[in-house]
Amino acid sequence: MRYISTRNVKVGLTPAQAIAQGLSRDGGLLTPAFLPKLSKYALPKLCEMSYQQRAVYVMSLFLDGFSSVELAKFAERAYGPDKFDTPQVAPVHTLEDGLHCLELWHGPTCAFKDMALQMLPHLLTASLAKTEEDKTVCILVATSGDTGKGALEGFKDVERTRILVFYPKDGVSAIQQLQMSTQEGENVGVCSVVGNFDDAQTGVKRLFSDEGLREQLAQRGYFLSSANSINWGRVLPQIVYYISAYCDMMRDGKLEEGEKLNVCVPTGNFGNILAAYYAKEMGLPLGKLICASNSNNVLTEFLTTGVYDRNRAFHNTMSPSMDILISSNLERLLFAITKSDEQVRGYMEQLAATGRYQVSDEVKAAIGEHFAAGCCDDANTQRVIAQVYDKYGYLIDPHTAVAFDVLAQYRAATGDDTPALVVSTASPFKFCDNVLGALGQQQIAEGLDVLDQLTDVTGLAAPAPLAGLKNKSVRFDRFVEKEKMVDMVLEMLD
Ligand SMILES: *Cc1c(COP(=O)(O)O)cnc(C)c1O
Repeated sequence: MRYISTRNVKVGLTPAQAIAQGLSRDGGLLTPAFLPKLSKYALPKLCEMSYQQRAVYVMSLFLDGFSSVELAKFAERAYGPDKFDTPQVAPVHTLEDGLHCLELWHGPTCAFKDMALQMLPHLLTASLAKTEEDKTVCILVATSGDTGKGALEGFKDVERTRILVFYPKDGVSAIQQLQMSTQEGENVGVCSVVGNFDDAQTGVKRLFSDEGLREQLAQRGYFLSSANSINWGRVLPQIVYYISAYCDMMRDGKLEEGEKLNVCVPTGNFGNILAAYYAKEMGLPLGKLICASNSNNVLTEFLTTGVYDRNRAFHNTMSPSMDILISSNLERLLFAITKSDEQVRGYMEQLAATGRYQVSDEVKAAIGEHFAAGCCDDANTQRVIAQVYDKYGYLIDPHTAVAFDVLAQYRAATGDDTPALVVSTASPFKFCDNVLGALGQQQIAEGLDVLDQLTDVTGLAAPAPLAGLKNKSVRFDRFVEKEKMVDMVLEMLD
């Protein structure tokens, strides 16, 4: 299997080259040249397997040059009992006939980023070995929350990797800050940047383009790389859980083999829902892929009108991981639908120049065959958290609530009552304040006490990685001005 660029199909890389490189040199996203199909016998066979075995089966279809033994070792490490609090890894919780929820937050940071970021370090280090890169990879991350902690946990103590995370001093929640400042591992470094997320991100981008830094690091045996969601090594592990969920439902009699299943995904950078699309193209019997956004509804508009326009107000919402105006992975969908690197290049040039592009009616119709979309504001997000809790006794986080609401809107508007799987991307305990507010609490406790308050109100126990924060000591309390980040990198790598 060759990997090509969404902006140039003549690029032809091996899977290891694609993962090691991350992004194509022309700025496009590296993408498999074709999607392998699941054979007729695959689903019944996969039904009998563990999550880890399913991951090996699915990933090996895309990764020539990686042996099954090798991938099995990665899957054991990524999804083992020391990392995930359930042997099912990504369990399906059924609320009522035809309404199911895929829980992607049983990993070490209690959010769905773990599904890919636990696997990526293994794929990346193996890819470097296969491409005969003998330097140690140094991952730099600017984070507003979930990604940084997910990457730290994924890369923690993985051989021949270092990871340095920069977060905005005034831009993360108390729990998120503690999660990062208490991070364990010999190869990790965490530092806050004076300013907001933009300052941290601009600073890290500058590090990547600093040739002097690159040279100094090379002399010390390091080279820089990123862990962001456009790397194929982050998309691929996400295809696995859609196939796994379908198999669990088939095995447990919730779906007949071949029966259609709609999925509704809370979406930011379009990585999660793109993986659902790939699973469908591989032959998984998925129906509509419903894209759920918060008030940053640039994708809702694109999927319903064919116009992508980032020139709009940015909203800080209670589902912050979806507060995004440029959904990078949408480029892979545009390529899959148009099959034209030239067209994709055109759209992306317009996006860079004017912040806007429009697809033809034909392309819009082709996308509409697979996708539906909707959005949900903060007031409705809180209303839905309360409603789902009252009706089913099931507690959801704000990101998941956006998806529940958009599914309800879709069903009301279309009458399509195909069984549906709502994708749940974070534990409600990661967003205690807003969840407690939704449940009618007027006074919200300070700091980590919110975990106990949510337990008192619901009788649910906080996930161990969050509850355990109380007993951890702070290892990283340094901060830096964004102009001084180069020195900080060199110091942290000493
Ligand atoms: C990252 C994230 C999302 C958005 O996922 P994309 O793949 O970027 O669309 C949704 N919910 C949570 C909790 C996340 O961390």
